[in-house]
Amino acid sequence: MSLTNTDLHSSLKKYFGFSKFKGLQENVIQNVLDDKDTFVIMPTGGGKSLCYQLPAIMKEGTAIVVSPLIALMKNQVDAIRGISEQNGIAHVLNSSLTKTEIKQVMEDISSGVTKLLYVAPESLTKEEYVDFLRSVKLSFVAVDEAHCISEWGHDFRPEYRNLKGIINRLGDDIPIIGLTATATPKVQEDIIKNLGMSDALVYKASFNRPNLFYEVRPKTQNVDADIIRFVKQNQGKSGIIYCLSRKRVEELAQVLQVNGVSAVPYHAGFDAKTRAKYQDMFLMEEVDVVVATIAFGMGIDKPDVRFVIHHDIPKSIESYYQETGRAGRDGGEGHCLAFYSYKDVEKLEKFMSGKPVAEQEIGNALLQEIVAYAETSMSRRKFILHYFGEEFDEVNGEGANMDDNSRNPKPKEEAMNEVVK
Ligand code: ADP
Ligand code: MG
Repeated sequence: MSLTNTDLHSSLKKYFGFSKFKGLQENVIQNVLDDKDTFVIMPTGGGKSLCYQLPAIMKEGTAIVVSPLIALMKNQVDAIRGISEQNGIAHVLNSSLTKTEIKQVMEDISSGVTKLLYVAPESLTKEEYVDFLRSVKLSFVAVDEAHCISEWGHDFRPEYRNLKGIINRLGDDIPIIGLTATATPKVQEDIIKNLGMSDALVYKASFNRPNLFYEVRPKTQNVDADIIRFVKQNQGKSGIIYCLSRKRVEELAQVLQVNGVSAVPYHAGFDAKTRAKYQDMFLMEEVDVVVATIAFGMGIDKPDVRFVIHHDIPKSIESYYQETGRAGRDGGEGHCLAFYSYKDVEKLEKFMSGKPVAEQEIGNALLQEIVAYAETSMSRRKFILHYFGEEFDEVNGEGANMDDNSRNPKPKEEAMNEVVK
């Protein structure tokens, strides 16, 4: 498909109302329009969806979008429908649809109205769907959150494993675009191998977040007092405090409240209504702080979160990057403070000991990396970016002085001794 830049820009404006592409979007989209396999690695919020939505709208046929979460699919479908008078431009195909609804979806696809069909991988194993999709014109398959393919990612889903086989059944040489915010080389290798995309063009954006300040402090008996002091010094600012256990979430939220901080707890043990209420209170700024397990944050876009505190060290650098990434989305200040004690590492190890051996091995390897991060005396930004396969110049790079180690360099010995073991 041969298009000029003007065509692309006017479509961007017409369908999405944006006047410029973000980062690598234009190159990615051009590649997809050319029917080539494409692999996109961009941080969360980088604008990955547009990389398949725009070419899907512009191309003949229907693009299949594989996505792991029904809630995310629904959001995207609603958003896409908003750009067109035709409701059928985007559909979700899943087991919750009635027979009549399925018939409508199939009709819209057959008549060429539907440009984007969102499916969960398990729906693609249904014979009747596969048979139907083989019989219609497909433009390409987008595999969103492609890291779900890899056991080395933070969200492994076995159903993602067989995608390539299924895609092959849908037709010959259907182009694939894989997208992820996971930048670790191991996960990337798995994705490329699994989707058979060794010839794909890879577009990788930088993962540097220059406005975030990274700090690690030793975790002592007084961690609650340390957190209260930090939050009080940042009064009126929005922040997230992550804890490993639901019990700790509730305790800490209460301790904060008793000390005059407006805080709510959040974890998956609350019913949906309560969770929604606390989440809204945080988003609407009725409270400053949410104390949460990792159940909080997926898909939450509050641009002015000013700090993210880890009461417990997370299970991998990747999780740490994702969770701290919720700070400073607006480009303003974002303080990422982690409390670290080796005891917590042992807790996490114990937690894993009941799991299958292969899973344990991976879990332990990831854990060793976050321990190394906590104990390092080098630029933390350099450490994180190195983990994601990216070079960082700790003298002149963007955000060079934005971590505790770079601000106050310490002899290595001293840095190690401070950590309570
Ligand atoms: P990702 O999937 O990479 O996390 P999204 O696709 O959800 O990111 O996009 C993040 C945000 O960026 C969305 O609000 C989207 O509307 C916005 N966005 C995407 N592309 C552009 C663009 N070219 N100009 C302005 N905003 C954009
Ligand atoms: Mg996305």
